[in-house]
Amino acid sequence: MSCCCNKAEEASIMATYGSNSFSNAVMRERLPKSIFKELLAVQAGEKELTLEVAEVVAAAMRDWALERGATHYSHWFQPLTGLTAEKHDSFIAPTGDGRVLMEFSGKELIKGEPDASSFPSGGLRATFEARGYTAWDTSSPAFLKEDGSGVTLCIPTAFIGYHGHALDKKVPLLKSMVALNKQAMRVLRALGNTSSKRVVATVGPEQEYFLVDKSYYEQRPDLILTGRTVFGSMPAKGQEMEDHYFGAMKDRVLSFMGELNRELWKVGVDAKTQHNEVAPNQFEIAPIFSTTNVATDGNQLTMETIRRVASRHGMVALLHEKPFAGVNGSGKHNNWSMSTDDGQNLLEPGENPETNARFLLFTTAVLEAVDTWSTLLRASAASVGNDHRLGANEAPPAIISAFMGSQLTELLESIADDKTYAAKAGEKMHLGVTALPKLPKDLSDRNRTSPFAFTGNKFEFRMVGSSQSIAGPNVVINTIVADVLSKVADRLEKAKDKNAEIQKFIKESYGKHRRIVFNGNGYSDEWVKEAERRGLPNIRTTVEALAEYAKPKAVELFERHAVLSKEELESRTHIYFEGYSKQINIEAGVMIEMAKRSIFPAASDFAAGLAGAAAALASIGAVSSPQEKRAKKIAEILAELCDETEKLEKALAEAQGIEDAHAQAKAYRDKVFAQMGVVREKGDKLEMLVARDAWPFPSYEELLFSL
Ligand code: ADP
Ligand code: MG
Repeated sequence: MSCCCNKAEEASIMATYGSNSFSNAVMRERLPKSIFKELLAVQAGEKELTLEVAEVVAAAMRDWALERGATHYSHWFQPLTGLTAEKHDSFIAPTGDGRVLMEFSGKELIKGEPDASSFPSGGLRATFEARGYTAWDTSSPAFLKEDGSGVTLCIPTAFIGYHGHALDKKVPLLKSMVALNKQAMRVLRALGNTSSKRVVATVGPEQEYFLVDKSYYEQRPDLILTGRTVFGSMPAKGQEMEDHYFGAMKDRVLSFMGELNRELWKVGVDAKTQHNEVAPNQFEIAPIFSTTNVATDGNQLTMETIRRVASRHGMVALLHEKPFAGVNGSGKHNNWSMSTDDGQNLLEPGENPETNARFLLFTTAVLEAVDTWSTLLRASAASVGNDHRLGANEAPPAIISAFMGSQLTELLESIADDKTYAAKAGEKMHLGVTALPKLPKDLSDRNRTSPFAFTGNKFEFRMVGSSQSIAGPNVVINTIVADVLSKVADRLEKAKDKNAEIQKFIKESYGKHRRIVFNGNGYSDEWVKEAERRGLPNIRTTVEALAEYAKPKAVELFERHAVLSKEELESRTHIYFEGYSKQINIEAGVMIEMAKRSIFPAASDFAAGLAGAAAALASIGAVSSPQEKRAKKIAEILAELCDETEKLEKALAEAQGIEDAHAQAKAYRDKVFAQMGVVREKGDKLEMLVARDAWPFPSYEELLFSL
């Protein structure tokens, strides 16, 4: 772990921390007091943004950016591709007499009009009105991006169609935060809280990724075009030894991480921990948590920065969920909780009966939400890349369950069953109607196989893919929890005896939803059977999972909380199906190309060489040489490779011809993707039969153990 080792370094970190972030601290310094106050109210959703305020902020932002060498500004947004997009405009405004001014108006800050006709809209925008607009998100700080092209002021924005449809990931995210705030506040007020003003969802995403040497990467068309290897046979040394996990890091990686941290700190992303992951050359970085929205932007920035900094160190960062077959994939752990503006974590067990009752109430509500809407949670983590992990015998399983730890589970069970709870210490706790027990301090026993695990004062949603935006999963978590909390609020607002009502809710809700709690090994075959017995859904692929978004029950949920409309959900689902098909289309295309133009000639030449050697050996009297045997074996598998590649080409052509997006995605999954597995097997067999030097691509060994 690299940390600050001396005073000079400490001072330099403190000086550069946040230096590229137009944070509230900077605004407090640079804005007139009244304007800053007004902006805080806008951020809190208490006031509408006025053009006057925007003008003043824009001027301060411009000055700050120009002082730091910026020449351009950009509305930074998150289209449905899952990446970030930006269009750069320069600050230059010609005066007409041969000079220029550096200008940036309130209008330019508030609203941008990117020429965004090529971003997916799923039919929400016909091309004749293709322009959407971007709108400043005051709740996420602007930042400076430094790269080869200079310094750019990036303004986090939402991307909206002209008829008000959300075309991005941020709009529903902000709306889901509003919904959660509204319902959680209703519950808090009903509980007698008069001091908190807001509840925000807090998120800390842990990001996994692989690093590979750039020179090897550049020789792999599959990595370049798809982010994963479509061929490649496992090295003799895989991850069996588990010696990489938390092992000592190599100098090259350490210097990369040092620079990565500094770059992130500059833009105000609090990168906090880093370590080796389970697989060779796999790493993780985690920030300090923040609000859902800031955390989402921060994670997008983190992914971009990991890529950029890796490149400076002669490496390429792979954010794909499964770059290497047979080696652990990468995910993102979405740590989630709810906090009040005055700093109370609603999922934190407290010191006294009241806070414990509140904790149990909110925790039970989360469990109810997870059970009721597990299919949506599953959908939120669905992607082509993630299909290689979820439901494919790897962490975590595709079945949603929640880990609560033994103590908390026993406690909840005892409430549901009207039994006396015996605390671990042996001390009996009686559950009266007026007070819940004081909870044991350490509730955070760990379970690494659970997709939704309680970890002491937050839940950790572990299904999210490493390359995904965390916006989608958090939209779902915020909305489903808001939905259950709205029902809790309805009950509590009417109840005369609040404590009795809390008890009643916990008892009923947990009693009904306890099937979602599972503390055992989520990877075991027994769990798959047990989950089926409990009636828990097991959605194995993205194609099935995505369909959940458009089901009437889901549409009603999102509309009920004004997060997404039916039209928006349908267009999104359409876009995601298309994205799924496109990705497999590219992967299959690369595979065919590699098989036909690289593997075939290489293996064929190598076999011919062997045959030549065999003939030469025969001429001096050798009978049935190993060269001849090997050449025959290669020729045999090469013939199979050709046949199977042809089948893949056919399947691909058929899938390409399908009009309906859902049907097309199914064909890509069942015909194209399935056939890719067969072709791969042939290619990987050949790799083991052809000399190292004669194989046209760097091996897994080189990719995984070379740093
Ligand atoms: P782990 O043992 O899983 O590494 P950590 O305590 O280091 O647990 O936290 C992992 C992530 O969870 C970090 O990004 C951290 O900021 C985040 N986190 C901690 N508390 C909260 C919270 N209340 N809400 C959301 N995220 C949180
Ligand atoms: Mg974790």
